[in-house]
Amino acid sequence: MDETKGHQCRIVYHPAYNVTAFGLERLHPFDGQKYRRIHDALVARGLRRPRDFLRPRPVGRRDLVKLHTPAYLDSLRRPDVLAGVLEVPIVGRLPGWVIDWRILRPMRFATGGTILACRLALEHGIAVNLGGGYHHAASAWGAGFCVYADVPLAVMLLHDEGNVGRVLVVDLDAHQGNGTAAVFHGWDWASIYDLYERDIFPARKEPEDFPLPVGPGLTGAEYLGIVRDTLPGALDAVRPDLVVYNAGSDPFVGDPLARYRLTQADLAERDLLVVTTARERGIPVAMVLSGGYSSESWRIHADAIEGILTRFDRV
Ligand SMILES: [Zn+2]
Repeated sequence: MDETKGHQCRIVYHPAYNVTAFGLERLHPFDGQKYRRIHDALVARGLRRPRDFLRPRPVGRRDLVKLHTPAYLDSLRRPDVLAGVLEVPIVGRLPGWVIDWRILRPMRFATGGTILACRLALEHGIAVNLGGGYHHAASAWGAGFCVYADVPLAVMLLHDEGNVGRVLVVDLDAHQGNGTAAVFHGWDWASIYDLYERDIFPARKEPEDFPLPVGPGLTGAEYLGIVRDTLPGALDAVRPDLVVYNAGSDPFVGDPLARYRLTQADLAERDLLVVTTARERGIPVAMVLSGGYSSESWRIHADAIEGILTRFDRV
């Protein structure tokens, strides 16, 4: 029996998402336990029982080579290459097997989670992967902590199977989704709407279908006003069969890697706005978490997901 059938919103999570590499993960601004903290908060708040979460399989090389070049996948065995992608120089001194088991394997589980969330969104309307959103990775390169291009891979698999025609990625992480945009250049059926901070990473921006580059200092009211004014037009122009929402929490005022000024409440309102705007049009939404580097990142996501479940769960 499907224990989760009373919930419209499916939540995908696996304990293997969390990164622990002998304390080395603390050298990085990313909270390696963020996914577990969100899971635990949703359980503590009575929104889900532990058995309600859907567990993905890790993506395998057979699927990865459908998007990534074999040369790129092979290069990930080299610690120096990976140290550059992850921006943690000491990774270059770890044995390859440690990197694969402690750092890449969690990312392959989360990539499998994005694939599963996209399938569940088509079936049930809304699905959230408590991870993924590696939007700086493309077919032949990775950057900015992103190794596998989970969203392009997930939508490519669904498109190849004939399950979706057009796809729109809504990327509201504070950084431009340059990897996703680079992959989408070659696909006329996939588009990206991207509100990002103009003067931060990545230095070289990719052309996009709906780019919204804005300078630092945006307040919540200004930010939400831009989304409210422009997202409906993008959805109506593309008329996608699936929206993948890259819900980065780094526009938060306390984030060390971006300079927008959204509060926790603004970010919860933003996520509910995106999901509601798509669902009003009958479009399935798969949400992935992407970046967020403050110690509050897990709480921001937990609050936002609580808002979505409160509005859309039918028990
Ligand atoms: Zn980001």
